[in-house]
Amino acid sequence: MSNQESSNQLSTSSDCPLEAGVRGIQRITARTAQVGGGIAVNRLMPSRQRRTIGAWCFLDHAGPAVFETKAGLRVGPHPHIGLQTFTWMIKGEVLHRDSLGNVQVVRPGQVNLMTAGRGITHTEESLAQEHHLHAAQLWIALPESDKDCAPAFDHYPDLPTWSVGGLQATLLAGSFAGRTAPGRFYSPLVGIDLRCDDTAVATLSLDPQFEYGILPLEGAFSINGQTFASDELAYLGRGLNDVTLQAFGASRGLLLGGVPFTEEIHLWWNFVAHDKAEIAEALHAWSSHDLQRFGDVEGFDGERLIAPEFVWPRA
Ligand code: MN
Repeated sequence: MSNQESSNQLSTSSDCPLEAGVRGIQRITARTAQVGGGIAVNRLMPSRQRRTIGAWCFLDHAGPAVFETKAGLRVGPHPHIGLQTFTWMIKGEVLHRDSLGNVQVVRPGQVNLMTAGRGITHTEESLAQEHHLHAAQLWIALPESDKDCAPAFDHYPDLPTWSVGGLQATLLAGSFAGRTAPGRFYSPLVGIDLRCDDTAVATLSLDPQFEYGILPLEGAFSINGQTFASDELAYLGRGLNDVTLQAFGASRGLLLGGVPFTEEIHLWWNFVAHDKAEIAEALHAWSSHDLQRFGDVEGFDGERLIAPEFVWPRA
């Protein structure tokens, strides 16, 4: 998906404190954002309150939405640098195309992972006969040592699953409780989908080196005794050995974690960069149709996205 927020403010990783603090769990509410086509999403990160959880630096929750034929997601060719895009599909089917020549439908229970590295272009669209979309799309910041890596695309149809205390868990990224998800990541992180059809209560072991957040996607969870509804992100901070989740009916949530990402990064439009020059260079390459940098997407019927005006805030 694409960041089309009109403000397009630069977001830096130093804007938010590392710890949730002694007050307990930080509660971050979603705002509405447009990503293309008839679909509005709930955006949790970056927000004024929280920019990153580990290297997870962008979090959109799309749907659950029901729409007329051809009124679904439709995001024209746009570039990315310095990040991985991570798409977790819950309902509906979305077609991905990219400048490496990949054409891949992502279906419920599957992950698409695109590594932008130095530069890639892609499109995303709901299939022609599709009426549903429920998905999470996240970005993962690449550390400076890997930001210029070669672009890549991977599709993961099979992910580790298990059950704990009435919750059905799917490991989306990283390692957890002796299991490892298939994707390649560039910093220690984890992502888990948790769902239940009825009441559940489970205590999950955590890595005290990681900071964590939990986002209910449907229903609600009590997290260490505090209730969080759908689209309320609970930021737990770090230093925890476990977390207790309780659901009182059908619910679904996303647990995200990682070693705090301490590098200073900037998010502007669809770019993650370590300094202003990197953004300016990528913007120039995109605006001047530099095919060597960003390539081209074949087969998408529509216009490439135009970058907003580049404004760097005064110090
Ligand atoms: Mn995108």
